[in-house]
Amino acid sequence: MPLHIETPLVRSQPLSLLSAKDVWLKLDALQPSGSFKLRGVGALCEAHVRQGKKRFISSSGGNAGIAVAYSGRQLGIPVTVYVPETTTARAKQLIEQEGAAVVVHGASWQEANTLALAQLDDDTAFVHPFDNETMWQGHATMVDEAVRAGVEFDCVVLSVGGGGLLSGVVAGLDRNGLSKMPVVAIETAGADSLSQSVQHSARIELPAITSIATSLGAKQVCENAFNLTRTHDIRTHVVTDLEALDACERFLFDHRILVEPACGASLAPLYSAQPPALDGLKAPLVIVCGGATATVEQLRLWRQQLGAAA
Ligand SMILES: *Cc1c(COP(=O)(O)O)cnc(C)c1O
Repeated sequence: MPLHIETPLVRSQPLSLLSAKDVWLKLDALQPSGSFKLRGVGALCEAHVRQGKKRFISSSGGNAGIAVAYSGRQLGIPVTVYVPETTTARAKQLIEQEGAAVVVHGASWQEANTLALAQLDDDTAFVHPFDNETMWQGHATMVDEAVRAGVEFDCVVLSVGGGGLLSGVVAGLDRNGLSKMPVVAIETAGADSLSQSVQHSARIELPAITSIATSLGAKQVCENAFNLTRTHDIRTHVVTDLEALDACERFLFDHRILVEPACGASLAPLYSAQPPALDGLKAPLVIVCGGATATVEQLRLWRQQLGAAA
């Protein structure tokens, strides 16, 4: 039994009117862990249990860590999540609420991750947030569901962090005979590691993450995601933090679902008339990837910060 749920797939009337396209929303914000990550993380955790693992370790203070904590609780496996001091109280609360232990260590993710890796033994599985083939096969189920629903979409719009979601969606398109379908891969400026890699024809590493969309904050995308840009029709597109934040607020108003800027990034192009990123495309399937760490209060704070900077 998979740990994720089959999510609703709805046509958005407000976004369809605005963008003059048939906009389909795959509502993975409604996964019990609050983001699409549960699909792949759940599949990977189940595989680890079959292989006899007795503990899970994660070093993600975001939606991957929350999904590992949720999966561990469902499977009766103890989970420890190693996070840096910068992790928000809300994220720690969400992980602990799933019964996992949180260990705070170091000023940056690198230090927390090093401590996490030092705990590994034969009984313990380390769950990487985006770079794993079994995880991608789990993410791919969202495409299976959209195809099974019989909806006629002509492209997929999604957000890119480390490229696990992109890898999973392309795997899903491939296994459903849709290898040629365009994928619009969106990042925020300051977390645009895929877009810059495509521009430089090399898998570059960003010096730092400067976007509020921390769930997209992988300095380097996984090799698989970069390689896919050479074999598939993947169109990268970068939006500003302000555009992503605007999209979060408007999406909350239109669809009554609160998502992180990481997800607002994918929605942002649909909130403009004739978005250039979707030129020639008529029926986008937008992966509403969600994100559990967003709060109304946090959106307000970002609005103030970005307003002050503008
Ligand atoms: C992890 C995450 C992403 C990016 O997924 P990758 O697999 O890292 O590319 C986008 N949005 C949300 C809400 C996420 O949690």
